[in-house]
Amino acid sequence: MLKRGGTIGILGGGQLGRMMAVAAAQLGYRCIGFAPEGDTVLEQVCDDVFSNKWDDRAALAAFAAQCDAVTWEFENVPVSTAQAIPAGRIFPHPRALETAQDRLTEKRFVEDLGGTPAAYSKVDSHDDLTAAIDRLGAPGILKTRRDGYDGKGQWRIASARDAEGLRLPDVPLIYEAFVEFEAEFSVILVRGRDGDVRFWDSTRNTHVDGILATSVLPAGEVIAAQVETARSLARKVADRLEYVGVLTLEFFATKGGPVFNEMAPRVHNSGHWTIEGAVTSQFENHVRAVAGLPLGDTSTVAKAVEMTNIIGDAISSAQSFLSTPDTHLHDYGKAEVRDGRKMGHVTRLERSWACS
Ligand code: AMP
Repeated sequence: MLKRGGTIGILGGGQLGRMMAVAAAQLGYRCIGFAPEGDTVLEQVCDDVFSNKWDDRAALAAFAAQCDAVTWEFENVPVSTAQAIPAGRIFPHPRALETAQDRLTEKRFVEDLGGTPAAYSKVDSHDDLTAAIDRLGAPGILKTRRDGYDGKGQWRIASARDAEGLRLPDVPLIYEAFVEFEAEFSVILVRGRDGDVRFWDSTRNTHVDGILATSVLPAGEVIAAQVETARSLARKVADRLEYVGVLTLEFFATKGGPVFNEMAPRVHNSGHWTIEGAVTSQFENHVRAVAGLPLGDTSTVAKAVEMTNIIGDAISSAQSFLSTPDTHLHDYGKAEVRDGRKMGHVTRLERSWACS
């Protein structure tokens, strides 16, 4: 168990790390970050951030020497960077990054555990793409196997003809059949060092342009009917990886049951509502797991919850949300406003008791 006053190292410097550091501070821990891009939103709330390159072994050793435990907030941290942290001091184990960073490896891993992803085909050339469309039909989505996020690295393909004129990027790709879903949801769990697993309620997630827009509870009957099956898969994934910390699996709710979309070996945007909407937030429980502390209760504390992302310029008027009762604003402190950039989020609760 990490003693009070201990130091947690965070690989990555974005808003997920920032909210993790705030939770860690509440539990009496210090945080330091490691984020090559520099000028991070994590450094506004932690003791120090190393802004060295991911492969700077000397800097990683100096960073690790200052940490009692290390975790990550960004799933594209190179596996070799995570492996450079002494074993037993980094949680989750780097094998979780290795599995989740490649869409093909991830889908095969989940299939092996009995999960159902969207029908897919590996694509390394134009001929592969033509064959994939022949086999799986169109529409479909062509995705880079690595480094995609928030809808980046994805192309919707309406027809075989549409694909003909496409210039493929020179990276490994995967073609997925388009899933006719009724709703999208995620399963977020935390697994402790002792194998204890807890789930938060699953929200209904809506996306705009591939970016999460809202997460809402109650999620509705269609999702409620599929959550148990999805949870059972998520538990198997966590157990197989001997996972420690918060793990997220995203699903499409279809007429035939839950279809696995992707997993994120980290705290997740669709779990931000837990800061005010659950007894223990995903950030606090992630820190608890990494620190070897007992896990907290994941129950929802409100009758209804709605988390809305604040994207781009919408942040300039976001303080106006605060005039609505039981509404909580999280501004990530990003100086540069860009279209499509996640700048903050707002969570509204409807309590089961009267707030006056
Ligand atoms: P991803 O980055 O793979 O999670 O994709 C972002 C969003 O694009 C998802 O949340 C869906 O709304 C949509 N999407 C991705 N893959 C598919 C698919 N195979 N079928 C239908 N919609 C998809």
